[in-house]
Amino acid sequence: MSDEAVRVIGGGLAGSEAAWQLAERGHRVVIHEMRPVKQTPAHHTSHLAELVCSNTFKSTETTNAHGLLKAEMRALGSMILQCADAARVPAGSALAVDREVFAADVTARVESHPNIEVHRGEVTRIDAPCVIATGPLTSDLLADAIRERLGVGALAFYDAIAPIVSRESIDESIAFAASRYDRETMEGAGEEGSYLNCPMSREEYEAFIAELIAADQFHGHEFDKVPYFEGCMPVEVAANRGVDTLRFGPLKPVGLADPRTGKRPWAVVQLRREDRHGRMWNIVGFQTRLRIPEQQRVLRMIPGLAGAEFLRYGSIHRNSYLNSPAALSPHLSARDDAKVLFAGQITGVEGYTESAATGLLAGINLSRILSGLNAEIPPPATMLGALYRYMSEADPAHFQPMNANFGLVDDLPHVIRDKKRKREMIAERSLAAMAEWSETYSGAVPNAIG
Ligand SMILES: Cc1cc2nc3c(=O)[nH]c(=O)nc-3n(C[C@H](O)[C@H](O)[C@H](O)COP(=O)(O)OP(=O)(O)OC[C@H]3O[C@@H](n4cnc5c(N)ncnc54)[C@H](O)[C@@H]3O)c2cc1C
Repeated sequence: MSDEAVRVIGGGLAGSEAAWQLAERGHRVVIHEMRPVKQTPAHHTSHLAELVCSNTFKSTETTNAHGLLKAEMRALGSMILQCADAARVPAGSALAVDREVFAADVTARVESHPNIEVHRGEVTRIDAPCVIATGPLTSDLLADAIRERLGVGALAFYDAIAPIVSRESIDESIAFAASRYDRETMEGAGEEGSYLNCPMSREEYEAFIAELIAADQFHGHEFDKVPYFEGCMPVEVAANRGVDTLRFGPLKPVGLADPRTGKRPWAVVQLRREDRHGRMWNIVGFQTRLRIPEQQRVLRMIPGLAGAEFLRYGSIHRNSYLNSPAALSPHLSARDDAKVLFAGQITGVEGYTESAATGLLAGINLSRILSGLNAEIPPPATMLGALYRYMSEADPAHFQPMNANFGLVDDLPHVIRDKKRKREMIAERSLAAMAEWSETYSGAVPNAIG
C-alpha cells in the first residue's frame, strides 16, 4: 500500500467517519479541520463531529427510513454510531445523545488512532487522494476551489426545498395526471403526463391561502437569512403578497381541465415526479419555512393531499451543496479523478445520519481505489444504495438535497397492503442485501491494522 497520506477535509460527521474507515483499513490519514482556527457561523466548539442543532440521530426502528439506514451503517462498522450509542440519552426509540459526550468521544477516538493525524486549519485547495466533507458551511475559499474544479454551477449556497409526498398517499379520485396544454415538459414522462394536479375551487383556495399566511414559521439563525429571489421565495411569503399571487404563479390553472367537471379549476397545485419509478412526488413551488406540524396541517388542506405521507419536508437554509447528478460520478467523486471523493451534506444528502453514512461509504471506497479495486455502491434495495442512486440519477435540473426515505428504495416484487408489514419486509430485504454486500466489498484490505 502507498505510504502517501490520504487527506480528509472537514472533521464533521462525514469526515470523522471517512477518516476512521480509511485508518482502520491501514491507510495513513490526515484530517484537516479548520475549527478553532477558523469558526463556522453555526459551530461553537473545537470538537470533531459537533452536532450544530438538535441532538438526535432520529429513529432506531428499522421500519423507519432513518432507523434502517442506521442498521445498515452498523453492519458496515460505523464508528459514529458506536460513539452515539455510548453517549445515548433516553428518548424512546430515537437515538438521542449528550452532544458534548458524543463529540468529545469522536474527537478522542480519532485523535488517538495510530493511523490518523489531526491538523487544525482551513484547506483552500484540492489535492488527491482526498475526501472533501466540509458540510453545509464550507469555507468560501474552498468553495471557490470546488467551483473552479467542478464548474461554476456545480455548487449551490442555499437550498430551497419543496416537500415530497408518496404516490400511494395521493388521492387519485381527486388529483389528475396531465401536463399544461398537454405539452410534456419532462423527458421520460409517461403518456398520462409529467404532473399530478390537485384542483381547487375558489373557496378551497382562499381558505388555504388564509391558513398558509397565518401558519407558524421557523425563522432560522441570523446567518441563515436567505436573499430570496423569485425562484426560491417561500410559498408563504409569496402568498402574503396578495390573495391571487399564487394563482398567477405556481398555482395557475391555465391549460388544465379537471376531468371530473371538464372545466378549468380556480387554482391547481401541481406535483412533479421526483424519481423514475414515480414513488416520490414534489409539490411544485412549495419551498417553505413553515414548521413541520404546520406543513402537515396546511398542506393536507390541498384537495387530493388530505392523507399525504411526507417523505421530505420543505425547508430553506444556508447550505453549500453540489448538484451531484450533474457534477459527480456514481461513487460521488470528481468526474476527472476517482480519488477526489465528496461526502456528507455537501453531496446533497440532508441530515446527521445521512451525512455520516456517506462518509462511511467514501472511506470504504477510497480505500478500495487506493488498493487497486473499483468503487462499489450497495444495491438500491438498501437505503444507503438507494440514496446514492438518487444522488447520481436524479434530474439535475431540479436537484434538491434529500434525506433517507422509503420512496427511494426499490419496491417489493408484489403488493403488500399492510404498511407496517411492507416496511418490515423492505427492512429484512435491505439488511440481507447489505450483509451480503458488506461481506463481498467492504472488508479490510491487506495490511489493515486492528
Ligand atoms: C444551523 C444548522 C442546523 C442544522 N440542524 C440539523 C439538525 O438538527 N439535524 C440534522 O440532522 N442536521 C442538521 N443540520 C445539517 C447538518 O449540518 C448536517 O446534517 C451534518 O452536520 C453534516 O455533516 P457534515 O460532516 O457533512 O458537515 P459538518 O458536520 O458541518 O462538518 C463539516 C466540517 O468541515 C469544516 N470545514 C469547512 N470548511 C473547511 C475548510 N475549508 N477546511 C477545513 N475544514 C473545513 C467545518 O468546520 C466542519 O467542522 C444543520 C445544519 C446547520 C447549518
